[in-house]
Amino acid sequence: MLEKLKHKKLRKKNALLFGSSVMIGVVILGLIASYILFDEYKEYKKVVKTDKSAGQITHYLNEDDNILQSFFYPHFSYDVLNTKIEEIVEQYKQDKDNNYIHHLDYQSSVIYDQYYNVRFQYRVLDKEEKEVKKTHAYINYDAKENCIMNVDQVFRLTYLPKIVDVVGQQVQRSITKEDLSSFSLQEKQVVFYIDGKEVVLPYEEYKSYIALRNTEIPSLAPLDMTIEKRKEIDPSKPMIAFSFDDGPNGVSTPRILDILKENDAKATFFMLGQNIEKHPDVVKRMVQEGHEPANHTVSHKNLAKLNADEIHEEIFRTQDLIFQTTGVESKWLRPPYGEISDLLRQITPIPLLLWSIDSLDWHSRNVEKIKEEVLPSIKDGSLVLMHDIYGTTAQALEEILPVLKEQGYQFVTVSELYTYRPDLKPVNAFS
Ligand SMILES: [Zn+2]
Repeated sequence: MLEKLKHKKLRKKNALLFGSSVMIGVVILGLIASYILFDEYKEYKKVVKTDKSAGQITHYLNEDDNILQSFFYPHFSYDVLNTKIEEIVEQYKQDKDNNYIHHLDYQSSVIYDQYYNVRFQYRVLDKEEKEVKKTHAYINYDAKENCIMNVDQVFRLTYLPKIVDVVGQQVQRSITKEDLSSFSLQEKQVVFYIDGKEVVLPYEEYKSYIALRNTEIPSLAPLDMTIEKRKEIDPSKPMIAFSFDDGPNGVSTPRILDILKENDAKATFFMLGQNIEKHPDVVKRMVQEGHEPANHTVSHKNLAKLNADEIHEEIFRTQDLIFQTTGVESKWLRPPYGEISDLLRQITPIPLLLWSIDSLDWHSRNVEKIKEEVLPSIKDGSLVLMHDIYGTTAQALEEILPVLKEQGYQFVTVSELYTYRPDLKPVNAFS
């Protein structure tokens, strides 16, 4: 009897418990439903998935009494790209005007499994949902090179001024390279975003200006080039840039490349277009081994005596030959005989560069004399002029390099020299 009663009581207790749980559940569901149904700002917390084909959608929500920050941004499997995205999102997080709605949305895409593109749109609205601020941010990432891209990686340095002109004409004002920072790479074209307008440049139409290296994108760049990784340079140790003019030559240039390799040395080669055409394999090897290719005109004409069209032909043709052969853009022009006219200074698309020590190898063609010209004058930051078309130059180099190496010098390219010695003014260079 007593047992039965106990059971009855227990059952009653269980029923009560069950009943109240259901009640609580209903209340919670009700709360959620009302939150969803009556949240006046819910549209800022919803995401449109159709224009986000690359990356994982991430949501940041900060809902204080006085502020709503609802940010959508992508996450990728690339750290460099994620860091850049987080930098941008962090800036928006700091933008905390009270009583406002802060909304970040984006579009993302990837083309040819290599170029990732994210376009952010950031808006601030007041409580009446009137837009008070709207900005955009653009990221382009090259997954093959693992780097955030700027316009220099899309168009060749030599032709950037032309791209600046073309885009400037379309937006009807004069612009600079800095105005070209907002762009996205699409399947058939690059699109610049400027003054609220979109300027479309199809790859095919601008083929010879394009620096991108991808089989799907028209460009003059060869796709079979890989460049050896550079051994670290120690900026605290002295450095010298050796430069070789007038080549390449089929015999002495390969020998000089061997000598440079034996001595862990990198150098710069100011080449003639007509010789690049004769020895493309030597040029490829040179660049693959980490040396810098540079421009010395097509045929060694005195540029100071030429008119604008002739100068243009000598410079641009050699720029194209270097790029077509190596995929690398020459950053320097050394005018033959060191002759510079005002016209040349005005129209050169790349800086003019001479030298600080002349080995006079072309004049003496004598190993001992070359050594006498070079060794006593060498100091940190020297830029030495030699010619890779003489056997005597190769022989002198073979004897000079070990001596300087023993003295602690590092042998660098011209561009490396000016990167690590920014205080050093390039010799007779004008940009
Ligand atoms: Zn020369």
